[in-house]
Amino acid sequence: MRGAAQFSCGHGLWRWLWGLVLLAALLPARAQQPAPVDVRDVTGPALVLAPSVQALEDPQATFTLAQVMQPPLAGRFAAGLGKDEAFNFGITPSAWWFRFTLENPGDEALTRVLEVAYPRLSQVTLYQPGSGASVQPTETGMQAPFASRPLAWRAFAFPLKLGPQTQQTYYLRVHSLTAFIVPLRLWQPAAFAHHVAGDSAAQAWYFGMASAMVLFNLLIFLWLRERLFLHYVFFAASMAFALAAQNGLVKQFLPLQPPWWSDLAATFGYSLAIATGLQFMRKLLDTAHTLGRWDGALRALVWFFVLSPVVFPFTGQSLIRTAAVVYLLAIVVAAAVLAHGMLRRQRSAYFYGAAALMLVAGALVNVLRALGLVPTNVFTANAMQIGSALEMVLLALALADRYAQLRREKLAMQKDLLQAQTQLIEHLRQSEQQLEHKVLARTEELSRLNQQLAALSVTDGLTGIANRRRFDELLQAEWLRARRAGMALGLAILDVDWFKGYNDRFGHPAGDACLRAIATLLRECVQREADLVARYGGEEFVMLMPGESAAGVRRSCERLRSRLQAQAMAHPDSPLGQVTVSVGIASMVPGADEGPQQLLRRADVALYQAKKAGRDRVVVFEPHAV
Ligand code: GH3
Ligand code: MG
Ligand code: MG
Repeated sequence: MRGAAQFSCGHGLWRWLWGLVLLAALLPARAQQPAPVDVRDVTGPALVLAPSVQALEDPQATFTLAQVMQPPLAGRFAAGLGKDEAFNFGITPSAWWFRFTLENPGDEALTRVLEVAYPRLSQVTLYQPGSGASVQPTETGMQAPFASRPLAWRAFAFPLKLGPQTQQTYYLRVHSLTAFIVPLRLWQPAAFAHHVAGDSAAQAWYFGMASAMVLFNLLIFLWLRERLFLHYVFFAASMAFALAAQNGLVKQFLPLQPPWWSDLAATFGYSLAIATGLQFMRKLLDTAHTLGRWDGALRALVWFFVLSPVVFPFTGQSLIRTAAVVYLLAIVVAAAVLAHGMLRRQRSAYFYGAAALMLVAGALVNVLRALGLVPTNVFTANAMQIGSALEMVLLALALADRYAQLRREKLAMQKDLLQAQTQLIEHLRQSEQQLEHKVLARTEELSRLNQQLAALSVTDGLTGIANRRRFDELLQAEWLRARRAGMALGLAILDVDWFKGYNDRFGHPAGDACLRAIATLLRECVQREADLVARYGGEEFVMLMPGESAAGVRRSCERLRSRLQAQAMAHPDSPLGQVTVSVGIASMVPGADEGPQQLLRRADVALYQAKKAGRDRVVVFEPHAV
């Protein structure tokens, strides 16, 4: 992040301003040789060397030590270029030479450690005076193997030996592919060891925590299969990798790195961290739905940062500078997306915003420390790591919150579903009930109709009394019953006299009315429940009276005859002048080998006799009369 901040202001306006400052300071700077540094003063905290160091730009990176030690180049070294704690030249193709003088006025030989505290420098060469006039170069840097470092330190550190009462001038050449920041510090060896121990503990704390977060969320992803956790894992791992590369730990602990990789690892890391960070934000804020087509631009940005590292090794500094601009663009875009999310009151946006703020705060403390505005201690020195750690924790909280929200939504959906299901079941139950009711009603109606039909099938259509079929059934049943009981079964057959003539005179409808009137009288003359009157056919009726003797049947028939007489329905074509009936009666106890035809035949015989004897009379069958 320090690198990214550097990209942003390394060139353009800042160089212009620096040009002006340089112009103003050039002549007096050359004239004034900084005083040698008394190394006996370097005991507790590190001594910032920048004010005591002169610098020379080597635009083509072609100068040799011999050249810079001789005029005219030796005279072009300028003092006062070190800004705050460090020399800071942005992304530059130039190499720079630094020159400083140490002295040990004491009587004992002293050792001090020179620290170049920025790990991302490509080439770092220290030239220190050897015995006599010889000068020994120590060549190291990101592009050199880690073993080339005199001290195994994530940045660069060189032990300097100063004999008693000596003064020595050192040259340091630095060349850098990415950011050019050269903080020069001088340490007392024990203090440096203490510093290394503290720093290692802080680094271990941060990367331990980051590893735990990555592993833990990876396990949660494997457990829940919720992709959001995987995006978090990618982001946290990329962020940790970027910081590890920035701090020189990738170089220190990852063996067998080609020089281009070492140089660009941090740049790769930042690109990946931004890509995965944006992707995680997309998923967390669900921008595919909340941003619509703008989400496409966000996705393009993600792809740019995923793919850009592939081309860095081939383009050198030019694209790294372009990428730096896109870094800034990505930060602006992310801020806009977050602001949009917050305006929509998305909880995830608040979490993500707060997390990003932690990182920004870490970077800010770093800058303030570089400017000397906050003191250097274990917290401010590791502000970036602390910011990143807090960010990871806040994002993990965002994840938990989002997961809880997803679960709430799912539960609500399940509840709705259950409700819909219950409603459906209730609805089904109701319609089933309605159907049952309908079926019941229909069944009742059907059985009523059936009863009606059954009644109709045994009823005479004209007169409404029983028909011939009913009579035949009942005659058979009553015959058997009478035989079982040894009881008499009485029967009368009635025939309307001269009825053809009645029809001929008055017409068929009047004949029908006459038949209906006689049927009504018949019904009224029968009092017992068991008796049956029926229309036998045409103008003939029958009266079946179980258990009745011929005399009993005769009484009923005489009653009918007299009432018919009382009605006096005119019948001009009858010798009797009115409608009359002839009746034949028979009653018998059914014998073992006899059938109901016997009874019918007897009554018929009696009817024939009644007709023959002059009609309008009741005749009882007499066996001997035949
Ligand atoms: P009798 O029995 O006294 O010898 O004379 P009759 O005129 O009644 O004799 P017959 O049996 O020949 O005539 C029966 C008549 O009854 C014939 C027919 O026109 C009439 N008839 C039969 N069924 C019906 C009916 O359902 N409605 C009407 N209006 N007339 C009927
Ligand atoms: Mg007849
Ligand atoms: Mg007749």
